[in-house]
Amino acid sequence: MTTPATALLTLLALLTLSTPAWAQNTSATSQQPKATTEAKTTAEEDSTRVVILGYHDFSSQKEATEMLITTDSFRMQMQALKNLQLNVISMEDFIAWKKGEKEIPDKSIVITIDDGWKSVYTEAYPVLKEFGYPFTVFLYTNYIDGGGAALTTAMIKEMQKNGCTIGSHSISHPFPSKVKKEKAKGPESFTKYLQHELGDSRKKLKAKFGTLVNSYAYPGGFVTDEMLPVAKENGYDCMFTVLPGKTRRSSPDLLLPRYIILGTHDNIFRDATTFKATANSAASDGAIIQTNMQPVSPQPGETIDNRLPLITVDLSKVANIDPENILMSIPGYGRVPASYNTDTKTLSWQVNRRLRSPSCEVSVKWKTTDGSKYKRPMTWVFNIDLESSYQSAPLK
Ligand SMILES: [Zn+2]
Repeated sequence: MTTPATALLTLLALLTLSTPAWAQNTSATSQQPKATTEAKTTAEEDSTRVVILGYHDFSSQKEATEMLITTDSFRMQMQALKNLQLNVISMEDFIAWKKGEKEIPDKSIVITIDDGWKSVYTEAYPVLKEFGYPFTVFLYTNYIDGGGAALTTAMIKEMQKNGCTIGSHSISHPFPSKVKKEKAKGPESFTKYLQHELGDSRKKLKAKFGTLVNSYAYPGGFVTDEMLPVAKENGYDCMFTVLPGKTRRSSPDLLLPRYIILGTHDNIFRDATTFKATANSAASDGAIIQTNMQPVSPQPGETIDNRLPLITVDLSKVANIDPENILMSIPGYGRVPASYNTDTKTLSWQVNRRLRSPSCEVSVKWKTTDGSKYKRPMTWVFNIDLESSYQSAPLK
């Protein structure tokens, strides 16, 4: 983000920000003061907080990537929302709340899915239907019926009957470089271009699916100031970025935060589902969902008061593990010299430099003797109560 007027909200930026510190960062959008005042809602503030989750692709076959979550993990996340008693609401209810027309419970969740991959229908939709969760698909019109891995009109229409709201994700899903190129051609031409991407996509979706399209997700999270008046003029109520944070009623409607759930970064879902206390509601811990999890110590989400813990992973359940190829890494420490005990099948590392952050993320990956590639890393986060660790262990 180089200027307050232009926000380049790439997923890369999201990654560098992906520490628990921004779990409660609702001020993200206030870095754009001009847009904030312009897009601010007039409805009276309440104490409700909403989390917008953003997904992309799903698979029960392929390994997870940033943009692809395994169907298993997705299902566990949906179950976690239920276990945490978080209230999943539709985009319609979200917008009505934003406008001050409706009350919704604190700690509500909106589920959104970008781009229009076929896996939305084959993998995510059955899970969402099972849980009875409403959801929104942000579609870019050029990709619908695009063959191969694209959603078809028929699939989308069927999902509409079961809780699916349609939002726009432009016509062509332009990369930031393309948008910048168009902007360089001058304001008049740029406005025309934005009218096409934002306005025409809305009209096309409306015509095709017979529904109002009131929400938009900026492709790649890329926003420029010029987009906001065009969005308004075209009747959008809510526009979503990829910058994480809790949404309040007063959050700027055209620059709303969203937690993009990356298939390989379990802590994002945890941060999204973690809420601080307010005057009306107690703090609540989020859920960390892992598919590749083995028993560990300290445990996921556990808060310890020792800044020099012994970190262990019980790998006895992993078939054919290759003891020569087991790696542990910790941000700030890099790859650490963890040792693997072939008798107990336990990997362990004694932290040798005091942990300085309130949380510690550990990643462990391994090869098996029958495969040449590293398996998807197993990642978990535990917390350190820094204050009490100073008191209880002043010499450390
Ligand atoms: Zn996209």
